[in-house]
Amino acid sequence: MTATASGRNDTLWTLARRAERMNPSIIREILKVTERPGILSLAGGLPSPDSFPIDAMREASVKVLQTAGREALQYAASEGYAPLREWVAAHLGAQGMRVDASQVLITTGSQQGLDLCAKVLIDSGSRVLVETPTYLGALQAFAPYEAEVDAVPSDDDGPLPEALAGLAQGARFFYLLPNFQNPSGRSMSAARRAALVAEARRLGLPLLEDNPYGDLWFDAPSPPALASHHPEGVIYLGSFSKVLAPGLRLGYVVAPPALYPKLLQAKQAADLHTPVFNQRVVHEVIRDGFLDQHVPQIRARYKANRDAMRAALERHMPAGCRWNTPTGGMFFWMDLPEDLDAMAMLPMAVEAGVAYVPGAAFYARDPQPNTLRLSFVTLSPEQIATAVEKLAAVVRAAVDAQR
Ligand code: PMP
Repeated sequence: MTATASGRNDTLWTLARRAERMNPSIIREILKVTERPGILSLAGGLPSPDSFPIDAMREASVKVLQTAGREALQYAASEGYAPLREWVAAHLGAQGMRVDASQVLITTGSQQGLDLCAKVLIDSGSRVLVETPTYLGALQAFAPYEAEVDAVPSDDDGPLPEALAGLAQGARFFYLLPNFQNPSGRSMSAARRAALVAEARRLGLPLLEDNPYGDLWFDAPSPPALASHHPEGVIYLGSFSKVLAPGLRLGYVVAPPALYPKLLQAKQAADLHTPVFNQRVVHEVIRDGFLDQHVPQIRARYKANRDAMRAALERHMPAGCRWNTPTGGMFFWMDLPEDLDAMAMLPMAVEAGVAYVPGAAFYARDPQPNTLRLSFVTLSPEQIATAVEKLAAVVRAAVDAQR
């Protein structure tokens, strides 16, 4: 009783139209290959497990079970654990946002936030705007609701405000990643943020701001959030995955009050609530300023890795390759010489013992086949140097084969 690849089913089950729009994540498919021993993977955006606060989590887990075991293991409020919602509201003050805890919805990862927003805001055929390239997981979240996704042109500073007028008509929202974008690593300047928000406000275009990487800056804090400029016109998504641990599956949505009840109802239908044990443990860990010491350690670690990758790219990559230097986050984005196809080259890279994600997966339209994403956070600086050297040899062989 399996459905066919076309979504049709020859037996008993009739798939919904939305199921036809669902696709396996190419990243998860690639991760399966990279789990093979001996592969140095620059593919997954997996935070370094060396940064997970295992001792603090163990102590907090014991404390929660000892002091509030009955509540921590019981069903709980769909909105989330109240002290954690209050912590989130206060923490966002650092990004220039003024948030009331009643606007915070704790979600099962920020990925669930994307799904809930899509569920509440997208009808079949609704237009949605995204950056180009953009986060693959968002495209996966929007597709089943039968969105028509349009890409907004951009430069190195982010999407172009002047491009919005021609695209905004009837669009339900514009999905944006202002800090250390996944996949391109790029960040929007303060001036670009202000210009984008002003233009979106003028056009009546709502914004969906996704910010899982904002705290992972290397040299200077990120400019204020888009939501700080226009609270009633922006939904903001945050996550504990990159500053604590992704396995907790803890994220949050900050919604304008007019929208909050619908997101809450969508959340109730999805999973009743996010595991309250995890919420209580995380609150116990972070309540007294733990992240003020912990996050700088992650920044220092990732910055050293970024430097190792930049040095290795400069040293080994052949002429014709171009890359950005991210000022935070987890990814380099690379352009290969124009006639190379990163997807076609991947089996050769895996054969050589290194993996990456081909960039084409991150485009809603008109994929650029010669792009790829390299994560610098999972491997050590030494492994990164080896992986980049191997990758460069594969690129050089591919260039030679073109001649
Ligand atoms: N948004 C972006 C841009 C991401 O890169 C990720 C994770 N890779 C997510 C959302 C989802 O993160 P989580 O569900 O772990 O909070």
